Amino acid sequence: MKLFDSHCHLDDAVFEKDIAKVYHRMDEADVVKAMTVGTDRKSSQKTVALADARKHLYAAVGIHPHNAENSTASDLDILRNLAANPTVKAWGEIGLDFNRMYSPVKSQEICLHEQIEIAGKLKLPIIFHERDSHGRLLEILETRKNKIAGGVIHCFSGNQQELKRYLNMGFYIGITGILTIKGRGAFLRELAVSIPAEQILIETDAPYLTPAPQKNKTRRNEPAFVRSVLVKLALIRKEDPEILADVLWNNTCRLFKVGIQNSEC
Ligand SMILES: [Zn+2]
Ligand SMILES: [Zn+2]
Repeated sequence: MKLFDSHCHLDDAVFEKDIAKVYHRMDEADVVKAMTVGTDRKSSQKTVALADARKHLYAAVGIHPHNAENSTASDLDILRNLAANPTVKAWGEIGLDFNRMYSPVKSQEICLHEQIEIAGKLKLPIIFHERDSHGRLLEILETRKNKIAGGVIHCFSGNQQELKRYLNMGFYIGITGILTIKGRGAFLRELAVSIPAEQILIETDAPYLTPAPQKNKTRRNEPAFVRSVLVKLALIRKEDPEILADVLWNNTCRLFKVGIQNSEC
């Protein structure tokens, strides 16, 4: 079995002390590849450095909606230059988060529009973050989908109707460990059975959202635990985990355009 953690934050300070062990546990869990995702200038610089230093680890650069207010045009220039590094396979995470409102709506939207433009010109797929935007992200994507070179709605938290509209635009849906959580994951378990397998990615969003059963032992999530998301997903979809893993692996490689010219993917 080969697994791809399509979304994690290995630049987070909580991984500084034992990253070698984290990588080792990835190998043991057959998590062969991972995408480490930036959230501002500094974290994007760090994700690229990490991906540069390890085979099968890729980077995304971008400004998270939480950081929209404090990011400048020169930050975007730096990210644009960083994206020239061959380990950068996506732009993100970008989007709208009206739940915590760390940045005002207006700055979030300006920051999102600018980054859709840049990613489009660079032909990079986009990793979208959406929380409680009440259809606004969908509205924006539906008017701009011609500019977007594919993308994933990571940590999907919307409803059935929203899901359908994202799927119709051809986006992938990122499923996190929330799927494994008793009460909190009920909505996601209900929706996850209706998504075509060819449009699903699995992710940890590590160090956040630790899945069950690992969450009983450790607070910090890590890429190795994406295996628990796969197992749960296969169970609720009544599919063979090996076959499903294969489909999800291919989806992730297709979106991020990795390993297509050779047999490793
Ligand atoms: Zn996110
Ligand atoms: Zn994230």
